[in-house]
Amino acid sequence: MSRPGSPRALRDLNRGRVLEALREYGDLSQAELARKTGLAPATVSNIVRHLRAAGDVVTTDGAGRRKSIRLAPGPGFVVGVDYGHRHISVAVADLDHEVLTERRVDLAPDMSARDGMAEAARLAQHVLATAGVDRTEVVAAAMGLPAPIDRTTGRVGSPSILPGWVGVDAGDLASDALGLPVRVAVDNDANLGALAEWWWGAGAGYSDVVYLKLSDGVGAGLIIGGHLYGGVTGTAGEIGHTTLDEYGDLCRCGNRGCLETVVSARRVTSILEPIVGEHLTILEIVQRAEAGSRACERLLTDVGLQVGRSLADLCSLLNPQMVLIGGELAQASTLLIPAMERVIGRCGVPAAAGAVHIRRGALGARTHVLGAVALARRESASAALFNS
Ligand SMILES: [Zn+2]
Repeated sequence: MSRPGSPRALRDLNRGRVLEALREYGDLSQAELARKTGLAPATVSNIVRHLRAAGDVVTTDGAGRRKSIRLAPGPGFVVGVDYGHRHISVAVADLDHEVLTERRVDLAPDMSARDGMAEAARLAQHVLATAGVDRTEVVAAAMGLPAPIDRTTGRVGSPSILPGWVGVDAGDLASDALGLPVRVAVDNDANLGALAEWWWGAGAGYSDVVYLKLSDGVGAGLIIGGHLYGGVTGTAGEIGHTTLDEYGDLCRCGNRGCLETVVSARRVTSILEPIVGEHLTILEIVQRAEAGSRACERLLTDVGLQVGRSLADLCSLLNPQMVLIGGELAQASTLLIPAMERVIGRCGVPAAAGAVHIRRGALGARTHVLGAVALARRESASAALFNS
């Protein structure tokens, strides 16, 4: 990486602007590139020369046509892995973000990292074979984990959150297990959810988007000013472990009364179980609420109010345009969202509360694996950027 403010950093930044413009507009002449990027024609000419020498762009000059620049057709494929508490999904995509194949399997709870990754490796092999892609053609890979990942150590930031992964360098383990010719980038699943919804889903076209994952784990991925925001060590957005009740239930993170202890999918189903005498899924609870069950409706509305209390603070701090609800509890979004809006209106800074739209995410169960594909694609683009 280059030092911020150095000539190298400026060159990387300008080169990024040129690549970005080509990604967005396809074919462009050098004059058009200068206009789109706001760079001087001489700077554009210099950057294009370097990119062409590195094989990242090609010049086309068909008969009667002006010379134009476009990105070199991307050889290679990317692999995305979503490693959840109870499932693994693997997808393989080309460099145009086109998903060729994806598969999902259930996982025994609390499986060790090594056993879980062996399962992921079998699935990846199957998905690659189905897509007709040889593993040597994979140019980037990424994996999402339902835990904060400390970017400075590569380890799960809070070991108690994902017990099977204690003391493990997640990137090393994934890279060894999957046997791909590239290092696997690892990030928190809520961050990947934010990337996916921003690329393909309900957040497309917005610059400030919060993706809120409400499942057994609760967390947020933050797109701020058009960039995924990770904080100093990559663990920003842990809204599930903000304190709601200092002397409440003990949380798996070691604190007490975290938001997650109050609103996780597991907690919601367990509150209801003694009352209805059976275990209901979130979908079944939603269906009963819609059919008139007062207890089910109250339970889900309260989740909306409790999450809304934390979201109100988040909106006052970050002033996002869009909050997208994902995870298992998104199935209850018709009850959750009005309750969230009520609390945000009551507790949030009025200008921020008035500016935010709360919606259900558009990508459903595919969200996190698509986010892994988006992260892998981004890794392949930055590799091209820094190697050239
Ligand atoms: Zn906690």
